[in-house]
Amino acid sequence: MQVFTYFLPHSIVISNSFHILAFHTPWYNDFMQQALLTWYDQVKRPLPWRGTADPYAVWVSEIMLQQTRAETVSGYYVRFLERFPSVHALAAADEQDVLKAWEGLGYYSRARNLKKCAEVVSGALCGVFPGDVDALRKLPGIGAYTAGAVASIAFGIRTPAVDGNVERVVARLRGVREDVGIPSVKRLIQWEAEELMPADRCGDFNQAMMELGARVCQPVSRCEACPVRQFCDAYEAGDADALPVKQRKAPQRVIPRAIALVFHEGTVLLHRREERLLQGMWCFPGFDHVDTPGEAAKQLKKLDIDAVYTETVGNARHVFTHIIWEMTLMAFRAETRVAPEGWLWTDLDTLASLPLPTATKAAQRAAVERLSQFVPDLLA
Ligand code: SF4
Repeated sequence: MQVFTYFLPHSIVISNSFHILAFHTPWYNDFMQQALLTWYDQVKRPLPWRGTADPYAVWVSEIMLQQTRAETVSGYYVRFLERFPSVHALAAADEQDVLKAWEGLGYYSRARNLKKCAEVVSGALCGVFPGDVDALRKLPGIGAYTAGAVASIAFGIRTPAVDGNVERVVARLRGVREDVGIPSVKRLIQWEAEELMPADRCGDFNQAMMELGARVCQPVSRCEACPVRQFCDAYEAGDADALPVKQRKAPQRVIPRAIALVFHEGTVLLHRREERLLQGMWCFPGFDHVDTPGEAAKQLKKLDIDAVYTETVGNARHVFTHIIWEMTLMAFRAETRVAPEGWLWTDLDTLASLPLPTATKAAQRAAVERLSQFVPDLLA
């Protein structure tokens, strides 16, 4: 039987009529890294955090970029750094102000952890971020991805930063065809990601992988535009869009919810949430599994709020990762300004100054409209 051996730039292929064996050459990674970095240098988006190696700025950008698109983050990042220009400024800030600066970005636990982490770095670490992955991971709100990103971009350490985009790129490049939710497969992806890395330009390489995942190696892949397709296992096998393999998530639960806009003489009632979801954000009173005004009034009464239903002002929907709120916005009129401790009767100016989550935007608009109408009456 005749055996053929081919030497490709990045592989050695040995074949006979029945079998093909392909080995990556030792220089496979060099070619791949070069191709990716050259592409990155040519096409990278001019995002405001690109080009900085300040650990504080890198850390803020990486926390903001979790679960959020770069285009959305840009404006927030610039304003945040203007408002809190150093880790000391962030540590000294009021949590309310930090949440206000985060308003609209979602996943507010990130903002609360950012503040906690700043307090540790500013205090115990005298303002110096550790240039070490393990030490970074001990800080509040810093997981494997953020530690990898800060260590590589700010300190040039050769360590991967595997977020959802990079996980997809690595699974496809290296042909990982097992469920990435399995811990051993997760570890394999992390290991493969590290194997792919060059000895220098580590921060740029990680950002290039993220850029590739965000713009080319998307869930529906654009392999024809990919600078590393000749190194890609999934491209060769033609199954890119089937990777990474993931178990289907359970669908989100839909929860009907009454939102009570309780007005009293130019003010509306708000409370600061203590629940884990939207913790620390200011919200209108809301009641799960309530969709009638009578039931909402009963729930208000339980809180010692005497209020009369006036009208339903609209509906709104907000999708979280695990649940969906189907909200009915109901207006009430309270006879007195009695409210539970810690709740707040807010006028228009105070309402604008407090951090309210995106989930309450429709209710906020309705409240602002109503409060704006109240001002001329007062002056009359
Ligand atoms: Fe992703 Fe396709 Fe590029 Fe492979 S060739 S890395 S699947 S875009």
